[in-house]
Amino acid sequence: MTALTTTTSGGVGYRHILTQNAPDSLSPVTDPLDPADLLEIDRLFSPDELALRARVRAFVDERIRPEVEGWFAAARFPTELARAFGELGVLGMHLEGDGCPGGSTVDYGIACMEIEAGDSGLRSFMSVQGSLVMFPIHTYGSREQRQEWLPRLASGEAIGCFALTEPGAGSDPGAMTTSARRDGGDWILDGHKRWNTNGTVSDLAVVWARTDAGIRGFLVPSDAPGVTFLPIDDAWSLRAAARSELLLEGVRLPDGAVLPGATGLSAPLSCLTEARFGIAFGAMGAARDCFETALRHAVTREQFGRPIGSFQLIQAKLASMAVELAKGTLLALRLGRMKDAGAAGPEHVSIGKLANARAALDIAREARAILGGDGITSAYPVMRHMVNLESVLTYEGTQEIHTLIVGEALTGLRAFT
Ligand SMILES: Cc1cc2nc3c(=O)[nH]c(=O)nc-3n(C[C@H](O)[C@H](O)[C@H](O)COP(=O)(O)OP(=O)(O)OC[C@H]3O[C@@H](n4cnc5c(N)ncnc54)[C@H](O)[C@@H]3O)c2cc1C
Repeated sequence: MTALTTTTSGGVGYRHILTQNAPDSLSPVTDPLDPADLLEIDRLFSPDELALRARVRAFVDERIRPEVEGWFAAARFPTELARAFGELGVLGMHLEGDGCPGGSTVDYGIACMEIEAGDSGLRSFMSVQGSLVMFPIHTYGSREQRQEWLPRLASGEAIGCFALTEPGAGSDPGAMTTSARRDGGDWILDGHKRWNTNGTVSDLAVVWARTDAGIRGFLVPSDAPGVTFLPIDDAWSLRAAARSELLLEGVRLPDGAVLPGATGLSAPLSCLTEARFGIAFGAMGAARDCFETALRHAVTREQFGRPIGSFQLIQAKLASMAVELAKGTLLALRLGRMKDAGAAGPEHVSIGKLANARAALDIAREARAILGGDGITSAYPVMRHMVNLESVLTYEGTQEIHTLIVGEALTGLRAFT
C-alpha cells in the first residue's frame, strides 16, 4: 500500500519504537508508516494472499477506476468486464472443481475488498455470481447442472442472478408467493421477484419458489418463454450494477431444472451467508478508499492558512476512521480464518456484515464531510461509495435483521416476529 510520506505539518511518518527482543511478528519495520494499516494487519496475510491482493488491486486501478464514474453516472453495468473478472480468477473464487478457481475463503474476501475499493456495484456483480449463483449450483446442484453452468460462470462467459426477494417478501423471504407446480414431468413457475442484481444482463436466474414440498431452487434460463426482466432505473445507489425485477409467467421448466439438494429456506439462506461474508471484507475496501481520499485531502487542503488536517476536529475524524477501518479489517480477517477452518456459523457472519457495513458507511460520511463541498461531486469517489453503501447496509439482511440474528445467538430467543 502506498504510504503517505509528505505533509505540510511535519509529516505523518513516524517510526515505531520496538525492543530488540520483540517477537518476529513484531520485528521493527523499515517501510514508511502506512496510514491505512496502522496496526500492520498486512503481517497477518500470507505472501500468496498479499500477491493476490496486489493483482486484484492492479486490476481495479487499470480497469475500474478510470471508467467507474461514467458507468455510475450512466447507470450501466459494464458487461464487457465479466470475462476480465473471470480471467482474474475471482468468480466463484472459493469453490473447487468444474472450472472454479479453488481459492480459500480469505482469498475471496481479499478480492471482495479490492474490487469494492473500486465500486460496491462491481463487487455486487462478483458476489452474486460467486456466492448466490455458483455456490448453490456447486453445493445443491446435480453433476449435469454443475458441468453445464459452473465453467461458463467461472470464466464470465455466462452471468447469473439470484431471485429470492419479492415486492412483498424482503426481510421475510419465507413469505414468498412465487410458486412452482408440477405439470406432468415439468415444473411451471409463476411469480414476481424484485431486486435481482445482474438480472437484465443475466443468462441464468437461480429462482426460489414455493412448492408442495416447501421452498425449492430452480435454474431458469433468462431467455426461457415467460421470463421478463425489467430494469430498476430509478435507484441512486449501486448504479454500476444491473438492478432488475423479474416476472415469471407460466415458465415451463424440465425436471432437471430443480436443484436436487436444496430443500427449504435454509438453502437460499446458506447462499446469503456466503455473500454476507464477502460484504464484511468488501465494505472495508470502500471504507479504505474513502479514508485514503479524505486523508490525502486533509494534508493538502489549506484553510485559515493551515492544512485542514492540522485542526484537531479533522484529526478526530481521521483518527476515528482509522480505528474503525483497522477494527473492521481485523474482524473480516478473523471471520475468514474461522470460515476456512469450518468454524464460522451464520451468526458470526452476521456480526461481520452488520459491523462492517455500518462502519464503512460512517467512514464514508466522515470522509465526505472532510472533502467539503467538492465531496459531493464525482471529482472524488466518496459520495459514490457513500450512496452505494446505503444498499450494502440494506441488502443481504438489513442491520435490524442482523441485530436480531446476533440477539438470538446471545439469548436463544427469537425476536423476528
Ligand atoms: C441494490 C439492491 C440489490 C439487491 N440485490 C438482490 C438480489 O440480487 N437478489 C435478491 O433476492 N434480493 C436482492 N436485494 C433485496 C434485499 O436483500 C432486500 O432489499 C432486503 O432484504 C430488505 O428487504 P426490503 O427491501 O423488502 O425491506 P423490508 O423487509 O420491507 O424492511 C424495511 C425495514 O423494516 C425493517 N424490518 C423488517 N423486519 C423487521 C423486524 N422483524 N424487526 C425490526 N425491523 C424489521 C428492516 O430492517 C428495514 O429497515 C437487493 C436490494 C438492493 C437494495
